Amino acid sequence: MRWQGGRRGGVEDRRGGGGGMGPVAGGGGLVLVVVALIGYFVFGIDPQTIMSAGSQSAPTSDVQASTGTPGDEEGQFADVIHTSANDTWQALFQSEGKDFRPSTIVLYTQGTPTGCGMGEAAMGPFYCPADEKVYIDLDFFRTLDNQLGAPGDFAKAYVIAHEVGHHIQKLEGASDAVSRQEQHLSKAGANALSVKLELQADCYAGVWAKRANDKEHWIEAGDIDEALGAATAVGDDTLQEKAQGRVVPDSFTHGSAAQRTQWFKAGFRAGDPADCRTFG
Ligand SMILES: [Zn+2]
Repeated sequence: MRWQGGRRGGVEDRRGGGGGMGPVAGGGGLVLVVVALIGYFVFGIDPQTIMSAGSQSAPTSDVQASTGTPGDEEGQFADVIHTSANDTWQALFQSEGKDFRPSTIVLYTQGTPTGCGMGEAAMGPFYCPADEKVYIDLDFFRTLDNQLGAPGDFAKAYVIAHEVGHHIQKLEGASDAVSRQEQHLSKAGANALSVKLELQADCYAGVWAKRANDKEHWIEAGDIDEALGAATAVGDDTLQEKAQGRVVPDSFTHGSAAQRTQWFKAGFRAGDPADCRTFG
């Protein structure tokens, strides 16, 4: 993937400054730890899951952060991909006469306060709708390489584009609508809705990949396979099999490997968000 010439819109960099928050304290702590452990196997854990774990929104005013383009290559990569995803969606929204607010990407180490409670690296990358920020501990990229068997920079780009997809859902009101509906559903029913949200974010990642490549010609041979490898590696069935040796579809919150691959491709085919109607 030839991303190096891409525009850098800047990141909020909390690595090494004020990071390394202590262990989660308070009554919600144990629940949050359990959620974090589950989140270890399910990247992009739903922010509402974090919130429902009973954590309070942590104060963010005393966080040490620098903004701008990071000096390291990995940070620059995250900046370029995140900026490209925002630019892509901004153009799409503008073409439809809709207002657009870009998301912010926060790079952190181990743990950081977010508008959705404490962010923990073990949750994997996630989007917090309350502060409209994508949170990522770049160590997750090593997890993709080493533990999930999904190496390559396009796999990493897919992960960031998926999280920006959740930001688009926030702007479109889809995530709020799902959160409201889920309160009236059984666990299985709520999971089914959550899966649709996740698959749409996969499809939106495909929309970004197609449009960014049309503009920047980033994609090299094998890149799409990398993205599909990531989609497969983080499919709930693959992760469950690795974690417990069996698959329990009712508990899926992200979708199976085949579904995730299918929806990424649906978005990539024409780069048209109208092809991402996972809700039918
Ligand atoms: Zn997600």
